[in-house]
Amino acid sequence: MSIRLVVLGSGSAGNATCIEGGGARVLLDAGFSCRELQARLRAVGVEPQRLDALVITHEHADHIRGAALFSQTHKVPLYCTAATFRAAGLARAGIHGHGVFAHVAVEPGMAFEIGGLRLRPFSVPHDAADTVGYAVECDGGRFGYATDLGHDAMPVREALRNCDLLMLESNHDVEMLRRGPYPQVVKERVLGRHGHLDNETAAALLCDVATDRTRRIILAHLSRTNNRPELALKAARREFERRGRKAPVLHPAAQAAPSGWFDA
Ligand SMILES: [Zn+2]
Ligand SMILES: [Zn+2]
Repeated sequence: MSIRLVVLGSGSAGNATCIEGGGARVLLDAGFSCRELQARLRAVGVEPQRLDALVITHEHADHIRGAALFSQTHKVPLYCTAATFRAAGLARAGIHGHGVFAHVAVEPGMAFEIGGLRLRPFSVPHDAADTVGYAVECDGGRFGYATDLGHDAMPVREALRNCDLLMLESNHDVEMLRRGPYPQVVKERVLGRHGHLDNETAAALLCDVATDRTRRIILAHLSRTNNRPELALKAARREFERRGRKAPVLHPAAQAAPSGWFDA
């Protein structure tokens, strides 16, 4: 067992995943309030002050909401790109008393290590300053994470290929979104090349990047308004079946409560 992780929650109301491996423990995205992050960590048996890093993908509130206060409160450094740090307003936040404990700037394509965990950020097409996903490796285990992306760009495909465990956005059912209550401008944003991934596109991408090694897939960032866990699951299963392949075990991530622990 080289990497263990638990999804504390996923969706437009907040994203956070706790990853352990090689003696280190990091929080990938911190999109709940500091108080909620603490509660969800404790609910899965992790004391908040035992984290070694907060690793943030982009500045949208559902990924960074509690990051500054958590970083300050528990003296945990925050890792994100320089552009994300600026766009989140964290660079000048110190004067208002909401700065981070420490910031470490990361760059897409440049791997770094936290304890025995090796993290490689990769560029993701999304409407934020400099959005990244992450490939995480430890002792031969490999985990791929991409939660907010408008389309299946090449760096995403390369980074997610051949992982033991994958966590990919399966945001919406296109028909539900089209017929749903969102204003037209929001629908266009979600459907756009820098918005969010629909079930069918996610399913095709998963089939392309999953190999015999890929045992589990977590379907993430499901829209509460424009998707249902069954629809996301069905789309993924159908695509593996269509290609004559056995699907890995599929888990829809929930917004309201943490998942169980997964191994990679
Ligand atoms: Zn998001
Ligand atoms: Zn986003």
